[in-house]
Amino acid sequence: MRKKQERAEEIVHRLKRMYRKAKCSLDFTNAFELLIATMLSAQSTDVRVNIVTKSLFRKYPSAEVMARAGQVEMERDVRQTGFFRNKAKAVIAASKAIVEKHGGEVPDTMETLTALPGVGRKTANVVLSNAFKKSVGIVVDTHVTRVSGRLGLTSNSDAVKIEEDLMKLIPPKEWTAFSHRLIAHGREVCVARKPKCAQCGLNDVCPSAEEPQE
Ligand code: SF4
Repeated sequence: MRKKQERAEEIVHRLKRMYRKAKCSLDFTNAFELLIATMLSAQSTDVRVNIVTKSLFRKYPSAEVMARAGQVEMERDVRQTGFFRNKAKAVIAASKAIVEKHGGEVPDTMETLTALPGVGRKTANVVLSNAFKKSVGIVVDTHVTRVSGRLGLTSNSDAVKIEEDLMKLIPPKEWTAFSHRLIAHGREVCVARKPKCAQCGLNDVCPSAEEPQE
């Protein structure tokens, strides 16, 4: 097996060919919408979140409006994304902080974003890279965690440590696209239950590749 750095370069190169059009699959028109959609996407699917946010953003088009929402009504509005009590509480609290501390505009640094209630590094990375086009880190979600582990790019299970490992191996200009492509690969080929190694374009550089069954 080739050295990790060399394999990482080859993986970046191949993923680029395999998933040319991979991009953020959450629907948004501005940083606020992306922030809220990402917060709602925890333990849910982007398809479901997109269904919910279609009407949610019509009803609450800005942080100012969402900050004034009632908890019970918001719970009803985001119910379909699961964990709706916590999510309702978090999106209202984050909206309030955006209004009170940032004049109603979503802040654009890692430090200020992660200081918002309910916003962790993953959510901040999604907003920074997709809404502000700032490559500050690599989005580590469930797919990136699983696939980067199988590919031997990290042996960590903690998201922050996985991100650090990947940031050392992947050139900064590739960070945003790399996470979109790894997520696409995790959804389509390197799926959770039974990875489709026989049809995977990375199987000769993957230490976890399974032999095809007879
Ligand atoms: S070879 Fe198998 S385990 Fe490795 S990345 Fe491809 S699908 Fe995932």
